[in-house]
Amino acid sequence: MPDAIGRANGKTLNHFTSELRRRLDEIQAQGLYRELRRVDSPQSARISVAGRSFLNFSSNDYLGLANHPVLKEAAIRATERFGTGSGASRLICGSLAPHGELEEALAQFKGTEAALSFSSGYATALGTIGALAGRDDVVVIDKLVHASLVDAARLSGAKLRVFAHNDLTELEDILRWSVQRAPPGFSGDRPRTLVVTESVFSMDGDFAPLREMVELKEKYGAWLMLDEAHATGLFGDNGRGRAEESSLADRIEVRMGTLGKALGASGGYVCGPRVLMEFLINRARSFIFSTAPARATAAAAGAAVKLVQSAEGQERRDRLWSLVDRVRDGLAKSGWGTPADRGAIIPLIIGGENEALAAAGTLREQGVFIPAIRHPTVARGEARLRLTLTAAHTAAEVEQLLKAVARIRSP
Ligand SMILES: *Cc1c(COP(=O)(O)O)cnc(C)c1O
Repeated sequence: MPDAIGRANGKTLNHFTSELRRRLDEIQAQGLYRELRRVDSPQSARISVAGRSFLNFSSNDYLGLANHPVLKEAAIRATERFGTGSGASRLICGSLAPHGELEEALAQFKGTEAALSFSSGYATALGTIGALAGRDDVVVIDKLVHASLVDAARLSGAKLRVFAHNDLTELEDILRWSVQRAPPGFSGDRPRTLVVTESVFSMDGDFAPLREMVELKEKYGAWLMLDEAHATGLFGDNGRGRAEESSLADRIEVRMGTLGKALGASGGYVCGPRVLMEFLINRARSFIFSTAPARATAAAAGAAVKLVQSAEGQERRDRLWSLVDRVRDGLAKSGWGTPADRGAIIPLIIGGENEALAAAGTLREQGVFIPAIRHPTVARGEARLRLTLTAAHTAAEVEQLLKAVARIRSP
């Protein structure tokens, strides 16, 4: 670029900015360009974007806790008592009262010996898989697991094997191969196989066949790690998750989840035996080499863990499930496919990236906010509107949603 800035930067930046512009143009040409939209309101059923109010059917705030007075109060009190920044990593001097209280609350909630919190679900996945699996090991993931689990498996350096979504036959084939792979007479640290899946899939809303997977991993001596990001707070007794709901909790080696979805705060956690936490504190790099989460968010998450187990938590779940049933019914009547399993995530599969963008635009014109989900979040040609319901929505708002969705043509 022969303009003043181009000349000034040309030598030092080596056409850096023009190269990035070229790459962005490519992304745009494929209908995959993304941009931030600034939300100027609390996270709720209604959000304000660029001066306009929308009905929001895109958040993971399933129980409507992100703007709950009890969580806000806990965050404010923690900030007043302890300040804002944590000052250091957990292992230096950043392990503070709200972190300990959150972890005790999580362990009690999940019925495990211990729990450990991380700054995000992404950091939880990265640190935990990286600690448990290494070069000699095998990590086996479902094709549709969340990007954080894929990245974690890759970064661990373990051999990565992927089975088709919820395909137990392919999983068993991989497990059989993995067991035979161990060289005969191999001693010392035996290579391990870690199977990783999600209890509720984030972009499809369907469930993993947990019982069958637990039986398979037991048959082949593998470990199972279950990500309950979209199940914690929603399923099982008091919202303990799908492992607990299926009475499989104590047969799953590693259970993780997030604090930023139904729990309305932010962060991630692992729960299980105390020795697992001890091991992660020593080996999970995303835990060790990162400043401890702010006490305000830890305190808010701790308050949320208690709230989901209260009568109010149950009322919120009941309200959510009645809205989910109404929407599934309404969508089926207008010809949309809905997930086989009843959950708060209901993807409206569109297909083409540009078509999904257009459908999201049609909804926005009617005051409904559901951004298009495209590659690389989902496979190419499987773009969708990822519709999520929360306990903060009203029955009238759900009717408005159904009316708006009926205006975009089902595939
Ligand atoms: C959201 C999500 C994560 C990441 O959690 P963050 O706290 O948002 O970093 C991990 N796993 C699954 C399945 C998720 O949906």
